Amino acid sequence: MDYYGSQMSRLIEQLSSLPGIGGKSAQRLAFHIIHMPKERVEQLSRTILEARNNVRYCSRCCTLTDQEVCPICSDPARDQKTIMVVENTRDLAAYEKTGKYEGVYHVLHGAISPMLGIGPSDIRLKELMQRLQGEVEEVIIATNSSLEGETTAMYISKLIKPTGIKVSRIASGVPVGGDLEYIDEVTLLRALEGRTEL
Ligand code: ZN
Repeated sequence: MDYYGSQMSRLIEQLSSLPGIGGKSAQRLAFHIIHMPKERVEQLSRTILEARNNVRYCSRCCTLTDQEVCPICSDPARDQKTIMVVENTRDLAAYEKTGKYEGVYHVLHGAISPMLGIGPSDIRLKELMQRLQGEVEEVIIATNSSLEGETTAMYISKLIKPTGIKVSRIASGVPVGGDLEYIDEVTLLRALEGRTEL
């Protein structure tokens, strides 16, 4: 039974298809949206559309950005010879929030998972290897401490070892299976400072 009329139902249905939004939240959001001033709704829709159209991968570190080269990679104050490898842009944001890391990043957009059929060619590894042909002194592997994150870390370290570039892994202050983005800044910093060479 369609309590709300078809357009309202469609809005609720589309909102509930978003990750983390259950049926109840979708209803709440839908009611909120139809009570918002029209200009605000237009602004919101436009922002979503513009972000979708313009956000892409940085040509160096593969993070999400609306520029050819992201602000971190184009910042002359950053140490371009130290690259921290993270699984996604949210992890990068977590490290940026600490304000203490001065190197640059490489965003893999995933982790190797034989169980899910995600192999090395499905993440941005080729791009990382290409960057290592430039002047790089250290690669810090900061993938999550899940099975996939560890598998990825091991794979990357084996790949880089023969190049002679220093490879290190952040300390396991990060709980097993823990998503980097939920971990507080102090723990993140401790993990970074306590990193060990592989
Ligand atoms: Zn970048």
